[in-house]
Amino acid sequence: MDLGVEKLKGIGPKTAEILKKYGIRTVRDFFYNLPRDYENYEKPVSIAEIKPGKIVIRGKIDSLSTRRAKRRNLLITEGVIRDKTGAIKVVWFNQSYRLRQFEPEKEYFFTGNFEFKNGRYSLISPSAILASDVDPISGISPIYVAHGKLKSSDFKRLINNSRAKFAEIPDLLPMVRPGTRKDALFFAHFPNTLKTAEKAREYLAYEELFELILAAKLNRQENNKLKATKIPFDVKKIKNFVASLPFKLTNAQRLASWEIFQDMQKETPMNRLLQGDVGSGKTMVAAMAAYEAILAGAQVAFLAPTAILANQHYENLRELFEPFKITVALLTGATKDKKSLKTNIKNGKINLVVGTHALLTDDTEFLGLDLVIIDEQHRFGVEQRQKLMLKSPADLAPHLLAMTATPIPRSLQLTLFGDLDVSILNELPQGRQSIQTTILKETETKEKLYPKIQEILSRLPDTKKHGKNARGQQIYWICKAIEDSEISEATSVKTRTRKLREIFPKCRVEFLHGKMKPTEKDAIMEQFADGKIDILVSTTVVEVGVDVPNATLIVIENAESYGLAQLHQLRGRVGRGASPAFCYFVTSGELTPSRRLRELEKSTDGFYLAEVDLKLRGPGEIYGSLQHGALDLRIASLSDTKLIHKAQIDVMKFLQDPKNMLKYSELMQGITKYQQITTLN
Ligand code: ADP
Ligand code: MG
Repeated sequence: MDLGVEKLKGIGPKTAEILKKYGIRTVRDFFYNLPRDYENYEKPVSIAEIKPGKIVIRGKIDSLSTRRAKRRNLLITEGVIRDKTGAIKVVWFNQSYRLRQFEPEKEYFFTGNFEFKNGRYSLISPSAILASDVDPISGISPIYVAHGKLKSSDFKRLINNSRAKFAEIPDLLPMVRPGTRKDALFFAHFPNTLKTAEKAREYLAYEELFELILAAKLNRQENNKLKATKIPFDVKKIKNFVASLPFKLTNAQRLASWEIFQDMQKETPMNRLLQGDVGSGKTMVAAMAAYEAILAGAQVAFLAPTAILANQHYENLRELFEPFKITVALLTGATKDKKSLKTNIKNGKINLVVGTHALLTDDTEFLGLDLVIIDEQHRFGVEQRQKLMLKSPADLAPHLLAMTATPIPRSLQLTLFGDLDVSILNELPQGRQSIQTTILKETETKEKLYPKIQEILSRLPDTKKHGKNARGQQIYWICKAIEDSEISEATSVKTRTRKLREIFPKCRVEFLHGKMKPTEKDAIMEQFADGKIDILVSTTVVEVGVDVPNATLIVIENAESYGLAQLHQLRGRVGRGASPAFCYFVTSGELTPSRRLRELEKSTDGFYLAEVDLKLRGPGEIYGSLQHGALDLRIASLSDTKLIHKAQIDVMKFLQDPKNMLKYSELMQGITKYQQITTLN
């Protein structure tokens, strides 16, 4: 299994090179590169017998052509599919590559909806596959994700070459029947019915969950062996500090900080995740933790994912701590006199240093780093977080407070992080404005969105905290791509900027994207915060916690192409001031809005949405994939609580016998990758 993938039949150096690029290095990786889905071509209907609804037909295609619809941005590709019994019209939207996909005279299976549209029945946007690629007996065809030049059909050919090799796959887990693993992998690639595929994947999901949970439990055990500085809870001083704030803490903030104070009094390092929706006031909780630690003589490092955010935190914390004689410093790539700053960090003159990745360099040394706070922790890689943790004095580990605005559903917490300590901010400070969310078709923007833009631009600036140069209220406009391209129909940041300047000539429109230099990005963001820009057209780089309360409208183009969590994050850029806020999801094409968008339209509760997200990706599609930092669960659905529960119980049994760790060496080796992901520190 550990042999290089080029050892398999039919995989030469060139193919191996491509596979490696996509993380498929070993024979094991190759076998675990499972089909993304299966199509069932068991029973195609003859065209003469078609009824409206989802259908599978087998036929040849001709008369293909593409035209632009009257409505902008819609490319229509049409053709005719024939079998012995008749012919039907087929239509694809914005898939002009279909023109080049088909060879005349070859037969294909088409799967899609046969619907009444624009005055007649057609097959709408079907998937299509060469008939000779389908297993003639089962009628089931696995579909693989294409990697570079390697298409799904190439993967099918390659895996078929290695069919005989599956028999040699060794067992991996205890507590399952011997041979389960090799059977499962085989039937995942060569199912004879959909049911067998499902069963195979269920075992593989269990295997994945077992590994994850085991990794998380081992991490926990290791954390408990570490020692940290005890930080006493100074009730009186904390009370004074809270009294000095311009607002009352929410109950959730009180509870979270109390949990943190309890943790920090202990000798084992705190390892706590603070979850709270955008705007729930996580920074204030972090500030109280920092204050407590500094009172005890500790130094605190506060890590933020971008220079913009680091700046913002620095300004806020400096102001907050000024009356308490606490020295706060900022360390980012742009910091001028790094050398003397680093000297002052090393000799302990600085109590709290806020910074970006620049904090992680080897020459940033501390006198006594006892608390590390990481904002938007999922934005950092494990190695980066570890670097910071290693800066505490010898044989001591710092307490860790990680923060995230992306709530992690309960089942995920259990699997990914063992029994991670979590504090939750589930209420927003009083007086927050709700965000009114609307889903719009692209064709409706002129009529429904432009007037709204005019209205926002002409409103009085938000009173709470607005840039001095603001003329009205401000707008974010999110685009999918930076530049126009052949493969995508999405309007790019640059084109959108140009168009908006044409439509709103008096309005100051600028753009922001990830390919700009950090200094350029910061400059634009600062101008926006100062109110010098009215509409900021941007890619998702603005997603991370930036605070511009005077921005009250966000438009997200191609909204259907983003995940639910990301859309929620983006939307959280507005609604941070005293004025009502608005979010428009603009969808392209003909499709009815997805459940994802409709849920977002209904709710702004991040915790509710996180559960919905999990469900939507869950049971229905057995292979829900979840991106959590570096984690990409290929098979397991994290809403499958039964399977999670079973895996948990089995892991507990496994850990009861220490000999198991030696006996199951492939398993123990395999979980190191998960151990990296499931650790906070
Ligand atoms: P997030 O959880 O998204 O990081 P922040 O910590 O940035 O939220 O807080 C958002 C805003 O709310 C800040 O301007 C902060 O000063 C303010 N804030 C925090 N706690 C409270 C509170 N209890 N009452 C009113 N405003 C608060
Ligand atoms: Mg924040």
